[in-house]
Amino acid sequence: MSITRRQFGRQITAMSALSMAARFSPRALAQSAESASPQPVGYAIIGLGRIADHFMRGIQASPGSKVTALVSGHRDKAERIAAQYNVPKSSIYSYEEMDAMRSNKAVEAVYVALPNSMHAEYTIRSAKAGKHVLCEKPMAVSVAESKSMIDACNQANVKLMIAYRCHFEPTNLKAVKLIHDGEIGKVQSIQSAFGFDIGATEWRLNKKLAGGGPMMDVGIYCLNATRYLTGEEPSDLRAYATSDASDPRFKEVEENLVWNTKFPSGVVASCNTTYGANMGGYYRVYGSRGWIEASPAFNYDGLRLRAEYLGRDGKWVSLDEPNLEKDPIQFTRQADHFSACIRRNLTPKTPGEEGLRDMELIARLYNSAGITML
Ligand code: NDP
Repeated sequence: MSITRRQFGRQITAMSALSMAARFSPRALAQSAESASPQPVGYAIIGLGRIADHFMRGIQASPGSKVTALVSGHRDKAERIAAQYNVPKSSIYSYEEMDAMRSNKAVEAVYVALPNSMHAEYTIRSAKAGKHVLCEKPMAVSVAESKSMIDACNQANVKLMIAYRCHFEPTNLKAVKLIHDGEIGKVQSIQSAFGFDIGATEWRLNKKLAGGGPMMDVGIYCLNATRYLTGEEPSDLRAYATSDASDPRFKEVEENLVWNTKFPSGVVASCNTTYGANMGGYYRVYGSRGWIEASPAFNYDGLRLRAEYLGRDGKWVSLDEPNLEKDPIQFTRQADHFSACIRRNLTPKTPGEEGLRDMELIARLYNSAGITML
């Protein structure tokens, strides 16, 4: 933590910011190099949609993790997937039956891959059934729900991790290291964006299920990145939102959201997110001696890191590093980490509190933009 302070040359007073920087520091992550545990952690996958598919494929390469149960509203689909992952039919549950998992010893953890507004209920039910919880982002659709998830997991003495896969991803980790090592000098500003042109039938457009628009879904990557890139917590935020009133997709959730953030050290960030245009997720960080860019920064693969800065020896450094890893490796790493935390009784690097912090910031952003949360 003292290194972070020295490198930014500023006082980061908030303890939360320091603990975030420590958790994301490359050294802490390197130390956590997960090793296979003798007995794989059995996961129940709750909600068999697109991200669950990535996770289940990823888990196959994680020696410490295994799919052992499925929870779904579609029995046929669940049976097909069960056959693929050698899950017994007796370990397929409907949402209504899910609490019976309590007595299923093959299930130690769950992966909650449901629409956002269902995260809290299924996290709390899983905790009450004695299962550790890996929950997709955004953690929930409100600050109150997020707190209740943390409380439920604490009361049940189970671990809660929010699936922020970029915290385990080498391109993002290298950007963090270069910045924290002071390579681009004193950080001044960050630009970041992530968005896509959404299909009209997505549950993401239904406020009751999504809790909000692109901010909840993909803008959260930019918000979280500004926090891990700086190792600081925002001191001030302002946001504006717009929606095309004639577009039926945006009757309930925002179409565009743009926001500015001020950090205690003086770093400023300018971010935007949309459901109206394909906007490859990226960030660019400007420092007193140069810049670093990850573009794409948040995809499942194909990430690329570029940088130009004046090195300490007075020579310009030019980096261009495509990341050749293939999907679903990010999901393997995430499962490796959570399973190791369960086996070794460690706190995950992205615990519930990390998700809560983003939810608190999203609440402030929505408030600033005049958007009411659920
Ligand atoms: P999908 O629509 O692809 O899957 C969601 C699944 O949830 C469905 O397949 C369904 O599974 C179940 N479900 C239960 N009730 C409903 C309902 N009322 N409407 C729709 N689905 C329902 O969503 P994603 O996989 O894209 O997203 C799921 C979560 O993962 C979201 O919170 C999202 O933010 C997050 N996510 C994270 C990403 C990451 O990179 N970390 C990327 C994409 C999404 P079944 O048919 O089995 O019941």
